[in-house]
Amino acid sequence: MYLVDSHAHLDFDALTQDLDGVLERARAVGVQTILSIGIGDGPATMHRARDLAANHQGTTPRIYASAGIHPQEAHQADEGALDLLRDLASDPLVLAIGEIGLDYYHFENPDIAVQQAAFLAQLDIARDVRKPILIHLRTSELATSQAKARFGSADATEDLFASIERHWAPYGIGGVMHCFSGTADHARRALDLGFHLSFAGNVTYSRFPGIREAAAFAPLDRILVETDSPFLAPQPLRGQRNEPAHTRITAEFVAGLRGIPLAELAEATTANFQALFLRSEL
Ligand SMILES: [Zn+2]
Repeated sequence: MYLVDSHAHLDFDALTQDLDGVLERARAVGVQTILSIGIGDGPATMHRARDLAANHQGTTPRIYASAGIHPQEAHQADEGALDLLRDLASDPLVLAIGEIGLDYYHFENPDIAVQQAAFLAQLDIARDVRKPILIHLRTSELATSQAKARFGSADATEDLFASIERHWAPYGIGGVMHCFSGTADHARRALDLGFHLSFAGNVTYSRFPGIREAAAFAPLDRILVETDSPFLAPQPLRGQRNEPAHTRITAEFVAGLRGIPLAELAEATTANFQALFLRSEL
């Protein structure tokens, strides 16, 4: 069994305080590769995931990194931060730019124009190094009334798809809708734009039938699984700290939705990860 956790925040305190145990438990259930997301606690610590990957060379699970400025920190995407990202983006251990995107869900988030500028600037960097992007997208439908008052009728999904259509899809580099949480229609449109869909623990929550529907119909060669550790633990662990070993629970659930054995799902999602990020170098 070879599983890939396509999205984990291994550099967050909740996991670093117990990293050896976290990696050991991942290995024990077959999670042999982890993409450690390099957003840090903001741009100044984006490099932590890359450093963590560099410090774990030759071990199992194999750790790779991403780097990017999260939409919640878009107001910090100044020239200095973008220079830092440019440096990290060319590092061979950094497989992707992200997570980047749009989020009109929290009242405290930066203004829409600020988020969009940071997003476009990072698409430029990703295009220069020809590495896939990892998208963070929070649909606006469930936002608090405060956030709705602030962001009005703006729809993060529509805004994001419009930017992707113009500034990313034509280049054919691809990317991942991380923790896919949209409707079945959003899934179809993301697939049409060349994205892979990555499913996290929330696919196991009964409140979001659109996610399950997407996990069942998306082409087998376009899906990934992830934990988004330390967040979003799958049922029955919901509410607890999440960790990469739990990729297996989500993978089992998605395999069940598709009516295929876990081994087949594991093999496909591993091959998809390699094709997108490693171009068969693994
Ligand atoms: Zn994340």
